[in-house]
Amino acid sequence: MGQPRTYRIGNLSITPLLDGDLDASLDKVPDPDDRAAAAQLIAAAGGDKALTMDCHAFLLHLPEGPALIDAGTGVMMHERLGHLHARLAETGVRHEDIRSIFLTHAHKDHFGGLVDAHGVAMFPNAEIVLHEVEAAFWLDTKPEDMPARARDALPMAHKALDPYRDRLRRVPEGGGAKGIAARLAPGHTPGHTAWVIETGAAPIVAWGDVVHVAALHLVRPETTMVYDLDPATATATRKAMLHWMAESRAVVAGAHLAAPGIGHIRRGTDRYVFEQLP
Ligand SMILES: [Zn+2]
Repeated sequence: MGQPRTYRIGNLSITPLLDGDLDASLDKVPDPDDRAAAAQLIAAAGGDKALTMDCHAFLLHLPEGPALIDAGTGVMMHERLGHLHARLAETGVRHEDIRSIFLTHAHKDHFGGLVDAHGVAMFPNAEIVLHEVEAAFWLDTKPEDMPARARDALPMAHKALDPYRDRLRRVPEGGGAKGIAARLAPGHTPGHTAWVIETGAAPIVAWGDVVHVAALHLVRPETTMVYDLDPATATATRKAMLHWMAESRAVVAGAHLAAPGIGHIRRGTDRYVFEQLP
């Protein structure tokens, strides 16, 4: 794989970092009617390979120094993932150069790369920036008050975030950093966040996991997958975000959109279409 490509949008440079890919499956669609519809869409989109999701983080080249949106999987998943560190090295940016890491949410394919196999922080000088709603859910909620799926994920969240507890910054809606604002996009997790990045031209919207499987969610946004903790809220968010992207010139940076994971959402005749930046 060659050096990751950097895209210039307005006055901002952004480099998608492909961490790897992972396979979804139709049994992650719990509702039988949804699953039947999903099976047809996947068959029409070419079969099982349409269920493979790329997994991206994004490197931002800010005037204050380099920053990341999400941090890949590290060693928390499987061998087809965890390549963020190698991709980052190829850009010439060192881990110690990273000033801020803006997390879209606290799932292992977004925070796993924060730590090594021993739980040691990989980014010695970075602050972790997290929407206060997401931080409160993962760090302040009693495990017995969490849905089982989140409770099961809690040890991983602690493993990744605890080494950063003295430099983890919780931000309110609209907060973040100069030119980067948190916008709640809830449902996948309670504080799932889209980071809206000013560029002087069209904004970049790093929307995390608004879309899991493009072949399903760009056609039937209401398709519920088990990944979403609150399916109804996640569906409402997905529809609203797709509408916003299609109606605006915003550039979407999606964790699980097809590589390079950055482009525009357009409205087709019966579906949304993701057009990657060339
Ligand atoms: Zn997630």
